[in-house]
Amino acid sequence: MSEAVSITEIFRFCPRCGNRATCLGDNPFVCDTCHFTHYFSPVAAVGAIITDPRQRVLVIRRAKDPGLGKFGLPGGFVDPGESCENALRREVLEEIGLLIDNAVLLTTCPNRYCYAGTAIPVVDLFYLCRLDEDPSISLDKNEVISWQWCQCEPQVLKQMAFTSHRQALEVYMEKMGHRVSDR
Ligand SMILES: [Zn+2]
Repeated sequence: MSEAVSITEIFRFCPRCGNRATCLGDNPFVCDTCHFTHYFSPVAAVGAIITDPRQRVLVIRRAKDPGLGKFGLPGGFVDPGESCENALRREVLEEIGLLIDNAVLLTTCPNRYCYAGTAIPVVDLFYLCRLDEDPSISLDKNEVISWQWCQCEPQVLKQMAFTSHRQALEVYMEKMGHRVSDR
């Protein structure tokens, strides 16, 4: 994961005019020739902390990289023109077949999404979704291997694919009045 190169380092040519970049690694990228400017601002992503009445959290096992086989929270990237709340509803519905309508923003965390050797900056928004009844879950097997209810114990937190997801679960636990030990 640490081998991924920052996206600021891979723009070797201006994507507008094609001239060689002299500002490699800078943020923003500014082309000397045509003045094309690109800010490497974080991409927005959303994650759902779906809980049952026993304060367990719905955790998925990821079916693809990054973090293949590790734990994650349902969610994904926000599309252009889409609200974060709609992205959350869409992603949760796509991944686990669950329609959520009571999501409340819990916390936000910076994240790095490392894929195919490149790391892009992300800001994750985590929403709390409390369920009163057992949900009917239907998995998209391309995205999710399996799902389970978990108490947020250290051995679960250590298996999270993304540090930001672990941090969000720690915020949830603290909100619920549990101290998270053994970080
Ligand atoms: Zn240019």
